[in-house]
Amino acid sequence: MRTRFAPSPTGELHLGHAYSALLAHDAAQRAGGAFHIRIDDIDGSRSREAYVAASLADLGWLGIDWAGEPVRQSARLGAYQAALDDLRRRDLVYPCFCTRADIAASLAAPHGPSGAIYPGTCRHLGAPERERRLATEPHCWRLDMAKASDRAGELQWEEEEQGLRRANPLAHGDVVLARKDAPASYHLASTLDDAMMGITHIIRGSDLIASTDVHRLLQALLDLPTPLYRHHALVCGADGKRLAKRDAAASLASLRAAGVDGRTLAADLLMGRLPTGYSLQMP
Ligand code: GLU
Repeated sequence: MRTRFAPSPTGELHLGHAYSALLAHDAAQRAGGAFHIRIDDIDGSRSREAYVAASLADLGWLGIDWAGEPVRQSARLGAYQAALDDLRRRDLVYPCFCTRADIAASLAAPHGPSGAIYPGTCRHLGAPERERRLATEPHCWRLDMAKASDRAGELQWEEEEQGLRRANPLAHGDVVLARKDAPASYHLASTLDDAMMGITHIIRGSDLIASTDVHRLLQALLDLPTPLYRHHALVCGADGKRLAKRDAAASLASLRAAGVDGRTLAADLLMGRLPTGYSLQMP
């Protein structure tokens, strides 16, 4: 068994991250497997090196150790580009020149499981216009979801303790695989990295269960193995909302500064015991 925890270094880790990392670490330990860290640092405008160091220090404080060096997404750009080129050769992606405002203004932009569904404007551009604009205009790359999903056929994944779940990637519309401002989207980078790292069990928050529709499709298209999944309950604050990076009081750094013992906290979290004012909830 190989599990992983994949923080984005865009803020301090909080109790929700601790819970997720501990579940993944504990599962690997019990099975005599390996636990790995991946740093999701391809968002150049928001990632900060200071948060990488702080996150690793927080994990150490909880008593978590990891196998090998943390994998850096910023060191994997070539692999993302190669996968994108492959999909492009197979005519499964297209460049999209729309701005956020263009998409928001479109009447035909209903919401899917992970935000607004792209109305498909740039999918219909002719080859000459596409080539001309590619040379001069900022663009992202989108998956032609209908075509991709048709090629891949019916897809499922195994959700631990629940059984098989049917993936419904079509509900997401033409998702972005390479961003205007970053060389890969979360979907593409995460799916490729989990395969490269040999992750057998993906243990992460249930806020990401919808993304698994897309990840499962990318695995099929790129001929990657499908791990087992476990989407766990989320740590919520007193307001019943899941913790966000702005909830400073729940940050591991502030708990540490308040004199909390990391290993005691870790043991409690693993038993589902949370500090006063926090609870675990399934969305
Ligand atoms: N960096 C992603 C996050 O923090 C990782 C998600 C995942 O575990 O796949 O949301």
